[in-house]
Amino acid sequence: MVIDKQLPGASSVAAAGVMNPVTGRRMVKSWRFDELSKFAEQTYREIENLLGGAFWYPKNILRALPTVLEENEWMRRSAFPENKGYFRENTDLGKYTGKVYPTHGWGEITGSARVGMPGLVQLFRRFLIGKKCFFEEVFDFEKISFEDGKVKYGALLFDKIVFCEGARLVSNPYFMYLPLVPTKGELLLVKIPGASFKKMLKNHLYIVPLEDGTYWVGATNHFEFKDAAPSFSDKSYLKNKLGRILKIPFEVIAHKAAIRPTVSDKRPLLGQHPKHGNLFVFNGLGTKGASMGPLFAEQMSAFLLGEKELDKEVDIGRFGH
Ligand SMILES: Cc1cc2nc3c(=O)[nH]c(=O)nc-3n(C[C@H](O)[C@H](O)[C@H](O)COP(=O)(O)OP(=O)(O)OC[C@H]3O[C@@H](n4cnc5c(N)ncnc54)[C@H](O)[C@@H]3O)c2cc1C
Repeated sequence: MVIDKQLPGASSVAAAGVMNPVTGRRMVKSWRFDELSKFAEQTYREIENLLGGAFWYPKNILRALPTVLEENEWMRRSAFPENKGYFRENTDLGKYTGKVYPTHGWGEITGSARVGMPGLVQLFRRFLIGKKCFFEEVFDFEKISFEDGKVKYGALLFDKIVFCEGARLVSNPYFMYLPLVPTKGELLLVKIPGASFKKMLKNHLYIVPLEDGTYWVGATNHFEFKDAAPSFSDKSYLKNKLGRILKIPFEVIAHKAAIRPTVSDKRPLLGQHPKHGNLFVFNGLGTKGASMGPLFAEQMSAFLLGEKELDKEVDIGRFGH
């Protein structure tokens, strides 16, 4: 049974769903990317078949290299054996040619993808509603009690409850001790007439082509914020930045904000409550839910069924209670 209410700040319905093998200024290969990406593709393909939708879009990323230093780093990293297959040799700006302002150079990342996370969440909800195992309501912690080795939620009796509540973990009385550091991000959905971009582009912001012909543009990143609402200041920041990337006009059609469930050590939070053995957590996907979700969900379900231990790196046992 799934209890979920799309509360302000819910992250998956706002995310671009980019899976980028090479991130950051230092262009370091993303943690366990080969394994995560292979498993993610297989899982999203299976979910596409199950739900009858399309969510998996392999897409290259054009990455701006604004200085000689970054270009040199790009060349150096492209020769690393572990990066084989992720740095395209001859960058092709494709449909972006003539439509973006020049920068020192560009690199092209391959083996990247976009996952249509908002659509996936929507279809999965519908699937669960069809199976009569979905409640659209706010989970009330006051309704939890423990009885004969089971956990009760109101009048309903369960063996296990798994909390997958994103950044709202900080309000969960059982797991709020974990070091989740929510970060707020804002994005724009835009129309770019005459663009027909196929690849994703990263130049400070991501420009991500969506299946309906519009573009996801973002995101900002704030550690300090008052609420989950979109802000005027981030909207103008994003518009200004985009105006300095694109030479051609664009039109903002939506502006959204959400909260990422980030963790101090940038690893997911999976495991069992140290005192209440019926309570579990699956969280901490941070900025990488699209790639980390599938493999760790599989690991979590094997753990719940008593088939496998959790990887030490993601087990909440690494933090004291
Ligand atoms: C602007 C932005 C861009 C991003 N881009 C990317 C990207 O390109 N690639 C990538 O991999 N990741 C990206 N992310 C991160 C990604 O969104 C997260 O890693 C992932 O979605 C987290 O999923 P989750 O299920 O843990 O949390 P969520 O998606 O937030 O889901 C938690 C759900 O639990 C519900 N909930 C919480 N408490 C309760 C309660 N008490 N009762 C009922 N329901 C409750 C929430 O309302 C929500 O529906 C981005 C995030 C943001 C904000």
